[in-house]
Amino acid sequence: MAALLDFNHREKKPGFADVVNALIDTALTAENAERPARDYLGGSRLGDACQRRLQYEYLKVPKDDGAEFTGRSLRIFALGHVLEELAIGWLRKAGFDLRTRNRHGEQFGFSAAGGRLQGHADGVIVAAPDGMAVPALWECKSANAKNWRDIARRGVVKAKPIYAAQIALYQAYLGLTDAPALFTAINKDSCEIWHELVPFDAERAQSASDKAVRILRACDAGELLPRHTEDPEHFECRFCAWKERCWA
Ligand code: SF4
Repeated sequence: MAALLDFNHREKKPGFADVVNALIDTALTAENAERPARDYLGGSRLGDACQRRLQYEYLKVPKDDGAEFTGRSLRIFALGHVLEELAIGWLRKAGFDLRTRNRHGEQFGFSAAGGRLQGHADGVIVAAPDGMAVPALWECKSANAKNWRDIARRGVVKAKPIYAAQIALYQAYLGLTDAPALFTAINKDSCEIWHELVPFDAERAQSASDKAVRILRACDAGELLPRHTEDPEHFECRFCAWKERCWA
């Protein structure tokens, strides 16, 4: 008897969009793989909840299989940079003298602990309307609608302690402690913008600096710092690129 024909069978072929997207993502991940890895502890990361994760980052410990940045993650980072450029233009049009480079054409930044701790600021405001005190650190972040609403509702210090630690540390190291920092948050979904002034918090800056020393010392001594939680299902761990290694 002849085999029955299956007219409903369709071999799932990648569509046009899948093909183009894959080409883009392959190009982005290849480009990212060529970038030299950071060989210092980033000041912007010190507010991370987990000091062990910061150790893994600093020591360039290989991430778990499949935990490298995807093309989509890299596009999200790139979009953040584009939005930051837009925010610079908006503030300048509004009358803020916002500088993003020093007189040598370099990004404002600092280096401590023999170059093992570094940070690069988004900008410094040297003149502003409405009597805002200057010079002031400027930091800009973009966020999805949920996170942006939380920042706008509770303020950056409560909603995003990691950004608050970065701001305090940069104010301290860049000598911008007299004037509150200007913090900008852009809602990636709706293009709403949020601005707030963040006064210098010496305790917060000291705590971030002490944390950096603790991490660098532990790395030098070959010691693994404690996890931030006893629960491997903690949301910080669920999205951690070293989860398997950490809890193995
Ligand atoms: S898995 Fe959790 S405890 Fe381990 S390094 Fe990552 S965030 Fe820290």
